[in-house]
Amino acid sequence: MQYRRLGRTGLQLSALSFGAWVTFGRQVGRSEARELMALAWDRGINFFDNAETYNHGEAERLMGDVLADLRFPRDSYCVSSKVYFGAAEKPRPTQRGLSRKHVIEACHQALERLRVGHLDLYFCHRPDPETPIDETVAAMDTLIRQGKVLYWGTSEWSAAEIHEAHRVARDMHMYAPVVEQPQYNLLHRERVEQEYAPLYEHYAMGTTIWSPLASGLLSGKYNQGVPQGSRITQPGYEWLRDMVLGENSSRVEKVKQLSVIAAELGTTPAQLAIAWCLTNPHVSTVLLGASRREQLEQNLGALDLLPRIDAALKQRIESSVA
Ligand code: NDP
Repeated sequence: MQYRRLGRTGLQLSALSFGAWVTFGRQVGRSEARELMALAWDRGINFFDNAETYNHGEAERLMGDVLADLRFPRDSYCVSSKVYFGAAEKPRPTQRGLSRKHVIEACHQALERLRVGHLDLYFCHRPDPETPIDETVAAMDTLIRQGKVLYWGTSEWSAAEIHEAHRVARDMHMYAPVVEQPQYNLLHRERVEQEYAPLYEHYAMGTTIWSPLASGLLSGKYNQGVPQGSRITQPGYEWLRDMVLGENSSRVEKVKQLSVIAAELGTTPAQLAIAWCLTNPHVSTVLLGASRREQLEQNLGALDLLPRIDAALKQRIESSVA
C-alpha cells in the first residue's frame, strides 16, 4: 500500500480506501462485510468511509459490528461519517441538514452505530442553503474541541462555498475544513481538476474521491448488457441507471475503448481507471466500493499498475473516453 497525507494535515491515509455506499446492509451482509474489511485491512487500507444516510444507518451499524469483531487497534485506522441527508427514512426537519442541532446529534448517532469514541473524518455531505455557513462551521469546531471529531470536511460543495467556510473559520478563530469528498473518475473530471484548483493552492485541501469506477461502469461490466444483481438493478436505484449508462449508451461505448487499452496492457479497465485517478497528485485517497471479494482484490491491483502510467499512456487513456 501507498500512503498519502490528507492535504495539509499530518494524517496519512492509504491511497486506496474502502466505502460502504449501496453495498453495506443491502448487497453485503455481515459475513461478506467482515470478509471485505478484513481483506482491505490485510492489504494496508486504513480508511473506511460511511454516512448517516447509507441504508438509513444500517451501513454504519454493520461497519461498527465488523470493526468491533475484527478488533483492529483503534489508532491504526480511520473511519468517517457524513451528515446532511439524515438517517431516518422520512427525516423530519430537525433530522437532516447542517443546523447545529443536526450536525451534533448526527455525530452522536454515528459514534453509537460505528461503536467508536471519535470520528476521524466528518463530512458535510452536501451544502445546506437553509443554514448559515457560520452555524455549521461552529458546530464542527465544537465537535473537534470536544474530541468527538478529528478533522472535518465537505462533500460536493462548490469552491465558492468552501472559500466561504474558510473565511468564516479564520474570522471566528475556528477549525476550517481540510478535505473535500467529490466525485472523480475518467468521465467526471471538471470540478476536481478545474473548479477546485485554487483550493489546493490556498488551503492545500485534500480530497477523498468517490465513484472512481462511475458506480462500476468503468470496470466494463456493462459493456455487454446489465448483469443481474449489479448496483444499477437494485430496487430504489433506478435513478442511477440512467446516470451511469447515459443517453444512447454513449458512456458504454467510451468504456469499450478504454477496455481495448486495458487488454493491450494485460490489465482490466477497472484497474486502469483507478490507477488513472491516482495519477492526480491532489487525490489523497481513492474510495473503492465493492459488493464482492473478487472486485476488491482486482481493484487493489491498481497500485501495481500505477508506475506504468506515463504521460503518453495517460493521454491515450483520457482520449479513449473523451
Ligand atoms: P465505484 O465507482 O468504484 O463503484 C463500486 C461498485 O462498482 C461496486 O459496489 C460494484 O457494484 C462495482 N464494481 C467495483 N469493482 C468492480 C470490478 N472490479 N468489476 C466489476 N464491478 C465492480 O465506487 P462507489 O460508487 O461505490 O464509491 C466508493 C465510495 O465512495 C462509496 O462506498 C462511498 O463511501 C463513497 N461515496 C461518497 C459519495 C458522496 O456523496 N460523498 C457518493 C458516492 C460514494 P456491483 O457489483 O453492485 O455492480
